[in-house]
Amino acid sequence: MKTLCSPGFEKLLRKFELEEIENSSETIFGIWSDFTLGYFNSGWKEFAKENGAPPVISSPDYLGRSVIEVCGQELAPFYKNLFESGLAMSEEELHPVQHRYECSSADLFRKFLMTVYPLGEGDGLLVTNSLVIEVEHEKRGTDPNPPMFAEYRDEQDLIRQCSHCRKIKHVSSRSRWDWIPAWVEEPPSEVSHTLCPVCLEHFYPDDEED
Ligand SMILES: [Zn+2]
Repeated sequence: MKTLCSPGFEKLLRKFELEEIENSSETIFGIWSDFTLGYFNSGWKEFAKENGAPPVISSPDYLGRSVIEVCGQELAPFYKNLFESGLAMSEEELHPVQHRYECSSADLFRKFLMTVYPLGEGDGLLVTNSLVIEVEHEKRGTDPNPPMFAEYRDEQDLIRQCSHCRKIKHVSSRSRWDWIPAWVEEPPSEVSHTLCPVCLEHFYPDDEED
């Protein structure tokens, strides 16, 4: 498979075996210091395809787009911080920045480990995403709920979905968030992304504000 790399980015990857990265089943991407995408591997393309992402995400047109924008508004500050910590590190750093996150599909609960490798002298980053846990939702005791618009559409006619665990807020209470696989597979048009209280606490442990 042909490598998708923007001009000059390959030079930043000199410490890595490009062929190894390219053929890895992990989702791997490279970003410049301004967080624009400079590289992605075949694992990225596979993951995008399997998870129903629009084809543009795996096309050369996507190089140059900011990965921070792709994160979504709620997670953008978190990833900006994470990548900035990586950029501040030396290429020789033995303990690169790491971060665990959930990215489940309709059928599977999945957790990934993200590792952020500094490239050059703050010139960019190589980001690898390895699958650490993959379990069927039912086996974890997560009960699926049917997609009932009346129970989830709020007074603004929006359906609030957590960008992280992808659960949906029930209108009856602030703390009830339900797992609705049908809407993970095919999100309704009125979905608005936010963070559920559990993920908010996980991501922003110091940020007590609403
Ligand atoms: Zn959540």
